[in-house]
Amino acid sequence: MDFQSVAIVGGGESGIGAALLAQKKGLKVLLSDYGKISIEHQQSLNKLKIPFEENGHTLDKLKNYDLVVKSPGVGDHTDVIKGLSYYGKKIISEIEFGFYFTEKRIIGITGSNGKTTTTGLIDHLLKAGGVKSQVGGNIGDSFARLVAEEKESTEVYVLELSSFQLDGIETFRPDIAVLLNITPDHLDRYDHDFEKYKRAKWRIVMNQRSEDLLIYNADLEVMRDVGRQIAIEEKNYSEYSLLTKSGQKFDITKSSLKGRHNRFNALCAIEVALEMGVDRQSVEKGLVSFKNVPHRLEVVKVFNSITFINDSKATNVDAVYYALDAMESPVIWIVGGTDKGNDYEPIRELVEEKVKHRIYLGKDNAKLIAFFGEGVECRSMEEAVKKAAMCAKEGDVVLLSPACASFDLFKNYEDRGAQFKEAVYAL
Ligand code: ADP
Repeated sequence: MDFQSVAIVGGGESGIGAALLAQKKGLKVLLSDYGKISIEHQQSLNKLKIPFEENGHTLDKLKNYDLVVKSPGVGDHTDVIKGLSYYGKKIISEIEFGFYFTEKRIIGITGSNGKTTTTGLIDHLLKAGGVKSQVGGNIGDSFARLVAEEKESTEVYVLELSSFQLDGIETFRPDIAVLLNITPDHLDRYDHDFEKYKRAKWRIVMNQRSEDLLIYNADLEVMRDVGRQIAIEEKNYSEYSLLTKSGQKFDITKSSLKGRHNRFNALCAIEVALEMGVDRQSVEKGLVSFKNVPHRLEVVKVFNSITFINDSKATNVDAVYYALDAMESPVIWIVGGTDKGNDYEPIRELVEEKVKHRIYLGKDNAKLIAFFGEGVECRSMEEAVKKAAMCAKEGDVVLLSPACASFDLFKNYEDRGAQFKEAVYAL
């Protein structure tokens, strides 16, 4: 490797992971953040005597480092990245950086929706089958941190990968890549060009070789020819069973994963587990024992025969499509937030069919009202849940599935989901 020093831009989990790894490998490091670095992260850096700057980047210092590792939250159009590009610096993502220093097998999961669910399920099925896996990337520990603290016993890393992380790879090569779906999201970071966003997602396979495996959604138009492939088709999964490429059938009825999208996610995860040598019985047990992380079609409570479901993580239109698709009772729909340039057309019919009352929860609901028509406007979660409960009748579902980001009224989607749950419990 032809670098001795690394400048790290961004002091979140991936930046800190990259800093730990760089220092472990004896490289000179400087971490730089435009804003404030959390106390917890500052403590980690101080403990290891890793130099850092916050509340602004000093380009004059950063440009003296051989390599730049960029956090996924830092856009290409920021002054610091433009400046470092001007000086001809090589700029990579922390995923690429982590890859330089490990020989372990890698499973990479990307897509617009379903990454966290599928990543978690893959990890769960592998562990059920006795495979020593570690999970990270875009969730939990950053890949660089996992590599910095690499355990000899680890057999495989299971990594959730966002398009921003894939943007900065050059040689990163997963042994198994899973590409779940590509629907419009984050277009603000891709010059509002869907083609650019698609290309970013397909980067997951760009270095794959003939022995590697790609598992992908058969609805996608394949943009790159890679080694072995399994295309997951709708005919391979039903409400009751999942059929693998090798002809094995798995019962899905006892799993807590609901909806068509989750059956698809589950089939992807099973294919990975089988490929990794997990036996059929362990897969079956794993499917039943898996519990998804909160805020994804999470049943919070059944109160007065009304079911309250928290799908706060549905921050784009496609996620809402599958949420509504999975609903079997009339829906009181809580929707709204920061619009990311949404086109609501794909859910128009489903909303007409399934939603009986709309509760708009956002600072600015004009676009939603113009598209779906009048509804109840709210500015707080407490109010939204109370109004939804008032509209609901026995057997109905109150569904928070916002289609938008949460930053207008909440800290993040977790905060939005937590407030929903709190308000439901307070009814
Ligand atoms: P990600 O990590 O990609 O954001 P999550 O597993 O956290 O994905 O799920 C995000 C949202 O997308 C949730 O509302 C979930 O119900 C929905 N979702 C999950 N899997 C899929 C899928 N395969 N297609 C469409 N939507 C999905």
